[in-house]
Amino acid sequence: MSEKTIGQEMLDKLSYKKKNIYEEATPEKIKDIYDYSEGYKKYLDVAKTEREATEAAIELARAKGYTEYKFGDKISVGDKKYLNQHGKSLILFSVGENDLEKDGIRILAAHVDAPRLDLKQVPMYEDSGMAFLKTHYYGGIKKYQWTAIPLAIHGVMVKSDGEVVKVCIGEDDSDPVFYINDLLPHLGAKQSQEPLGSAISGETLNILIGGLPYDDKEVSDKIKLTALSILNEKYGVTEEDFISAELSLVPAFKARDIGFDRALIASYGHDDRVCSYPAVTALLDNPDTKQTVMVVLADKEEIGSVGLTGMQSAFLVDLISEISVALGKNPIVVRGKSKCLSADVTACYDPNFADVYEKRNSAMLSCGTTMSKYTGSRGKSGTNDATAEFVGFIRKLFNDNGVIWQTAELGRVDMGGGGTVAMYIANHNIETVDLGVPVISMHAPYELVSKADVYSTYEAFCAFVK
Ligand code: MN
Ligand code: MN
Repeated sequence: MSEKTIGQEMLDKLSYKKKNIYEEATPEKIKDIYDYSEGYKKYLDVAKTEREATEAAIELARAKGYTEYKFGDKISVGDKKYLNQHGKSLILFSVGENDLEKDGIRILAAHVDAPRLDLKQVPMYEDSGMAFLKTHYYGGIKKYQWTAIPLAIHGVMVKSDGEVVKVCIGEDDSDPVFYINDLLPHLGAKQSQEPLGSAISGETLNILIGGLPYDDKEVSDKIKLTALSILNEKYGVTEEDFISAELSLVPAFKARDIGFDRALIASYGHDDRVCSYPAVTALLDNPDTKQTVMVVLADKEEIGSVGLTGMQSAFLVDLISEISVALGKNPIVVRGKSKCLSADVTACYDPNFADVYEKRNSAMLSCGTTMSKYTGSRGKSGTNDATAEFVGFIRKLFNDNGVIWQTAELGRVDMGGGGTVAMYIANHNIETVDLGVPVISMHAPYELVSKADVYSTYEAFCAFVK
């Protein structure tokens, strides 16, 4: 091996360079990375909506001895509990022996809602030999991506007597799936001249649900009646029950390895299961931590973190107050000492769309979990711009624990932008910075991540909670 020149040594010492985890990793490490992704893929397949993700996380936590907490219950050191916010948001918490007024609470805040198509409240109609359901899209989608793919229906219907019926059709291999029609290219001359954003309109995202007329010459809307009769037989519901329902159409695909080498995973809903799963498993895998730790799985992030189950709701600060008061601590002091990683995805640099990125400040695939000091758009509007001191604290924590990580912003300046739950948590005087997995094709029905980045995020969260 040739000696390094003085200049080369100086360069290595003084300059910053991202590292590709797969290049750095031993074969044993690569095996750990691949093994971890198997559990993650299972979670992806059973947790396609916020309700299912909440339920799946509760199941993982209960298996490790967590029990349900309700506001007003007693809390003491050593407790491992979960707060279930209307079945759509969840906070897992583990109360450690450290002094809350000195060390605060370590918070990992991810979200479990994902872009999808929700059914309208009066969705069902029939036209030209087909029955359909009307939808209203949820979150930021590119509408053209949702046509001509297999879709599954997930959700709940609340019947007139208050009974809650769970619905899930299209996930089992023997289930039928659902579908949105698209125009054949032969007649698509006008459509193909339309801008991408308007070629498929919101009101054409109608779900095809059937084609078999009910066997009665006298009735109208025979195909709709067939669908209603099947739903009535299977779930005991009527058309009016759709009014008190939350039913969503999500891609019926399962999570799959991508590539000859299986280094990557494609799935619906990586944003933000790819941070919520590592957050939950990091907490459950470090049961002996002296820190008080909270893992928040929030709903409604994709539409602004609003409402009862979103991160702007009071349930997070209320729980911090409850824990603080129960242990004889001042919640204002506790919040001021607490630290939060807003665990959400960022855009991964994609050489196919290089012009929207600024490469030096983009997340590169397989280069690790990605810290974003700020998100937002234009002149950093709509962001929690974390302090240099807090970024320094997190940087040291990761480097001391051997986590390979990187830093990025979402894309080129003025190209667009986005936000996370970070600013809503920081608004409560809790130091917060964004950290998460870079995603290719974010918000598409089938998103893509690197297994190495998922595992790096898990390692980063472990370092943060232990
Ligand atoms: Mn997200
Ligand atoms: Mn998103």
